[in-house]
Amino acid sequence: MKVPILVPNVFDHPFTYESGNIDLNLGDYVLVPFGKSKLTGVVWNEFEKENNKKFQIKKVISKIYVPSLKKNTINFLNWFSQYNLIPKGMALKLLLLSGEAIQNINLKEFDKFENKLKEKYFSLTKEQFKAYSELNSAINKFRVHLLQGTTGSGKTIVYFKALKSILDKGLQGLVMLPEIGLTTQFEEKFIEFFGFKPAVWHSKITKKNKKIIWNGIINGKIKVVIGARSSLFLPFKNLGLITVDEEHDQSYKQDEGVIYNARDMAISRAYFENIPINLVTAVPSLETFENVKSKKYKISKILNRFKNASLPNYEIVDLSKSKLSDKSWISNDVIIKVKEHLKQNNQILFFLNRRGFSPQVLCKNCFKVFSCPNCSINLVYHKNKKKLLCHYCGFKTDLKRKCKRNISGSCKFIFSGPGVEKISEELNRIFPDQKNIIFSSDTMNKKNSSKILEKITNNKISILVGTQLISKGFHFPDLNCIVVLDIDLLSQGHDLRGAEKNLQLYHQLSGRAGRAGRPATVYFQTYNLNKNMIFDITNKNPDIFLEKELKLREKNNLPPYQRFVSLILRSDDEKKLQKQSIEFKNYIGGILNCSILGPVNAPIYKIKKNFRVRLLIRGKKTLKIQSLLSLAIKNFKFEKGIKLSVDVDPITFN
Ligand SMILES: [Zn+2]
Ligand SMILES: [Zn+2]
Repeated sequence: MKVPILVPNVFDHPFTYESGNIDLNLGDYVLVPFGKSKLTGVVWNEFEKENNKKFQIKKVISKIYVPSLKKNTINFLNWFSQYNLIPKGMALKLLLLSGEAIQNINLKEFDKFENKLKEKYFSLTKEQFKAYSELNSAINKFRVHLLQGTTGSGKTIVYFKALKSILDKGLQGLVMLPEIGLTTQFEEKFIEFFGFKPAVWHSKITKKNKKIIWNGIINGKIKVVIGARSSLFLPFKNLGLITVDEEHDQSYKQDEGVIYNARDMAISRAYFENIPINLVTAVPSLETFENVKSKKYKISKILNRFKNASLPNYEIVDLSKSKLSDKSWISNDVIIKVKEHLKQNNQILFFLNRRGFSPQVLCKNCFKVFSCPNCSINLVYHKNKKKLLCHYCGFKTDLKRKCKRNISGSCKFIFSGPGVEKISEELNRIFPDQKNIIFSSDTMNKKNSSKILEKITNNKISILVGTQLISKGFHFPDLNCIVVLDIDLLSQGHDLRGAEKNLQLYHQLSGRAGRAGRPATVYFQTYNLNKNMIFDITNKNPDIFLEKELKLREKNNLPPYQRFVSLILRSDDEKKLQKQSIEFKNYIGGILNCSILGPVNAPIYKIKKNFRVRLLIRGKKTLKIQSLLSLAIKNFKFEKGIKLSVDVDPITFN
C-alpha cells in the first residue's frame, strides 16, 4: 500500500512510500530510507500534490512502536506551517527533534517525576478565589481566558489551582514561561504546591533529558511540563490545559531560524486540541487586550497585592537640576536616598539595560570607533572578560588596535557611555562597604546562578546592578528601592511597539519592588522629563495606556487591526541584493493585492557578513496573504546567494 510520510527536513510535502507488509495508520512513527540515510518520519494525512517526477517508490523500513501522533496535532502542524510559511517538514522537526528523541527509555527514569513529595496548602484570598473559580469554568473545550493581576498579587497560585483541577481529571498540563534559564524559584514553588517535580524543557537541557521527557510525555508518565517556546511542540498523550505565563513577553517570539510567536501558536494548538488555555500577565499585550475587549477572550482580574502590599512610589530625579559629576552616572540626590534605604536594610537595584562595560569604544587620536567587521554595529567592551564583543554575531576581539594617527603604534581608547559593569565600578567607589553584583545574561546563565539567586533572596547582597533580565518574574522580598539610571535611553527609536515595550518593561521592573509589604520607591533619573511616558509607566491602571495605544493603532491601521508580514532578504553581495529586492517586490506586488513598503535597508544593515534589506507587507487579517505569498516565493527564482526570511506578525524591526 502507498503511504504519505512526512520527514523532518526542509520539504513542504510528504513523500510517498510503499508500506509492504507493515500495517500503518495515520500518525504512526516509521523509519524510512531517505537519500543515502535513514530518517524517522510520520504517516501524514495527505499525499504530495501534483508530483510528475518519476522515480522508484522506496519501502518503509520499520514501524516505531510508540503511541502514534494524534490527528489534531497533525492538523495543528499543518496549520502552523501554513500560517508562518514554514515548510511542513520543518514544523515536524520541531516536534520530532530529528527523530533522535524516540527511544525506549527505562521506566525508572520517570520515577523522579512521579515521586510524591509533601505538598503545602495555599489558601486563597477572596479575590484570588473568584479568579480561580472563573478560570475553572468551561474547561472541557477550547476557550482563552486572561488572568490579569497586579505584580505580586499571587497569580501563580491561582493558575496552579486551575491546573490542579485539570490534573485531577488525569490530564496533562503545559506551563510556558518566557525566561526558562532561571526557573529555580519557580520550580520550588511548583513542588511546594503540587508535591511532585515538573519536567523542565528548553533548548539547553541535555539530549538525555530531552529523550526522557519526550517519551514521558508521549506515554503519559510525565504530568506537567514547564517549558520555553519549543515545549509547545511536545507530543502530549492527553493534554488538558496550556498556561502561558507573562503572555506579553516579547521573548515568546522566536525570531531567528524558524520564526514564530509561541504565545499565538500555543493558542492555536489549544484550539486544535480543543482544550482551554490561560494567559497570565500584569499588563496584557495589545493583541490580547484587544481580544478581551472584543469578547473573544474571557478575563479575570486580581487588583490587590499579596498581604495588601502597596505598589511602589515613584520619584523623578531631574538630571538638569541634580547634575552628574564627571565620569559619573549616579546623581547625588540618588546617592542620598540610597543611603537611607541601606540604613533600613533594604535591597537596592540599579537598572540599566546595557550589558558589558561600555557600548562605544573609540580612540582619542584617530577617533575611530571599534565596530564589528561582520555587522554594522559597535562592539561592546566587556571588562570582566577583557574582550570586545559583538552582541549580534558573537565576534570577539582584544582591546588592541594599530592607530592610523598615532606614530607610536596603538590606539588610545576612551569608553563612552555606561554599561552595567561601569555602573558596578562606580558603586564600588561610592559604597565601598557594600557588595554589589551584576544581574545580566553574562553573569546569571551559569551553573552557580541558583546560589547567587539564593543569596539575593536572603538579602546577603545589598546592591544589584541589573539589565532587563531582572524584570522577569523574580521574587526578592527585601528589594524596596529601584533606580532607573537612564529612562531616556529607551524612549527613542523607530519601533511601532516602542511605547508598549517600555510600559511592559517598567511595569514588570517596578513590580519587583515592595513585594513583602514594606514601602518601596522607584527613582527615575532623566534629562528629558518625558512626562507622558513616565505618567503611563507609573499609572496603577495600565488599561488607560492600553486603551489610548489601541486607539492610535486603529487610527493608523497598525496591528492588531492589520496583518504585517516582514520579509528580510540577505546576501553578502550588496549590489545583487539591492537589484533582487526590487525585482522581488515587483513580482509579489503583482500577486498580492495589498500594500508593500520598501525595499529599505534594515536599521542594522549588515549582520554576520550579510547585508539586509526589508520589505513590509500590510493587509487584512486573513490567511490569504500567507497562501498567496507562499506561492509567490515558490515561483520566484532568487539568484544564487540571496536568502529570504519571512516574519509573520513581526515584533522587532532591526
Ligand atoms: Zn557582529
Ligand atoms: Zn587610533
